[in-house]
Amino acid sequence: MHWAVSDSVRAEESAKPIVVAAAVTLTTGFADRAGTFRRVTTRVRFAPSPTGMFHVGGARSALFNWAVARRSGGRFVLRIEDTDQARNKPEWVQGIITALATIGISEADPAFEGPYFQSANAEAHKTAASRLFAGKRAYYCDCTREQVTERTGKPDAGYDGLCRDRGLEYAQGRALRFRTPDDGETVVSDRIRGETAFPNRAIEDFVIARGDGTPLFLLANVVDDVDERITEVIRGEEHLPNTPKQQLLWEALGQTPPAWAHLPVIVNEKRQKLSKRRDKVALEDYIAEGYLPDALVNYLMLLGWGPRDGGPEIRPYAELEAQFDIADVTKAGAFFDVVKLKAFNGEYIRALDISGFIAVCQPWLRAPRAPWTEGAFDPEVFAAVAPLAQSRIAVLGVITAYVDFLFLDKPVTDETAWSKAMKPGAGDMLAAAAETLTGADWNAEAIRAAIEAAAAEVGLKLGKAQAPVRVAVTGRTVGLPLFESLEALGRERTLARIEAARANLV
Ligand code: GLU
Repeated sequence: MHWAVSDSVRAEESAKPIVVAAAVTLTTGFADRAGTFRRVTTRVRFAPSPTGMFHVGGARSALFNWAVARRSGGRFVLRIEDTDQARNKPEWVQGIITALATIGISEADPAFEGPYFQSANAEAHKTAASRLFAGKRAYYCDCTREQVTERTGKPDAGYDGLCRDRGLEYAQGRALRFRTPDDGETVVSDRIRGETAFPNRAIEDFVIARGDGTPLFLLANVVDDVDERITEVIRGEEHLPNTPKQQLLWEALGQTPPAWAHLPVIVNEKRQKLSKRRDKVALEDYIAEGYLPDALVNYLMLLGWGPRDGGPEIRPYAELEAQFDIADVTKAGAFFDVVKLKAFNGEYIRALDISGFIAVCQPWLRAPRAPWTEGAFDPEVFAAVAPLAQSRIAVLGVITAYVDFLFLDKPVTDETAWSKAMKPGAGDMLAAAAETLTGADWNAEAIRAAIEAAAAEVGLKLGKAQAPVRVAVTGRTVGLPLFESLEALGRERTLARIEAARANLV
């Protein structure tokens, strides 16, 4: 951390290390007896505003913060930024906690602290605003946006400073503005982006409290970070423009600013920022589709970061955490590649043992998600075909399409599949198959021999001959291997479906 390095050098070299260290003690550390600066525990935070859904970008921020906290033996603070009362519901907060638990960030872990609520710190926000005003670091202002635009002639010129020296006291409707320094520069040191110097005169006198006295994000966010003794702020790139302002606030409040790290934006295949209107962004939606939390965590950890050892990408979180260093995160936008995520998920599905696979499929096999009635489901029949499904699917949600023929009274009717499979000759094939299957032993090998014999009889290659049988029995053109499917369905139902299809052909 930039301050840790410079402060430790100062503490060691200074003739009066204790004085330097005393200033540092407030938020970040202390001087030991030899005068060496000792850092306090790393304290990071995840500070979502409840929105009713958990964005995958938020999940990535949470995971990176979590990795930093756990690797440093520090703390991960969950702070709910809930001051927008209108948009705040208790179940949304629970949704955040549940989503975090889903990706392995558990309240039970010793690294976890909170949740704290921004709304509970309202007094501290007010006190900070009063202190800034009393110290002349902030002033009241009654200019409207229209007046500022009229004076400057530009709609987006920023505040022109008219009220700076008017000495206004608080009155309803007067906003509190931070008085940014006239000279000098604010140097933001970002662990991912390096140092950026912002000339202070280019930073407008920004509003920190509204005309009704309530604090704005810029102030409340800093006061909470100060009070929660946050040492590193790791958050999305969209907050970069706030950072010089917030650093000025930290300093004006007499605090050593935290280390900053702004994570790269997450983009879709068109290099557009992931948006909830355009893209699927809710973690809950991926879970509901059948992405395994471990696969999601693994994939999200690689969005803008990669392990130093150059080892495989698909590996457990613990291995990634052990190598995580926020300084290794890239600046470039990170592509959220759903195809790659799906491939990861397929690998994770295949890595499960069979009982694990059967267990994770359960939500899709039971009401309300399953398309069959509860009583129609037979766990033994499912267990018989589960290994065949496990090697074929990449998301769990498609499992029902693979096995529904086993539990529905009639197979689904997919018109496209039907017209593709039921070409001329299909009726003959079905008739021949009905005959050979009637006398066959009922196991996959014998069923294969029976279908082969029927194909030979009507002069079709085995590949072509399977299609009408598959559609007659399962309703679909793709699925599990045919012979095993028929074995699982049983002779009686197989023959009944073949007969029904034949009747439909004429
Ligand atoms: N509530 C803010 C957000 O969700 C937090 C910003 C921050 O991490 O400082 O974007």
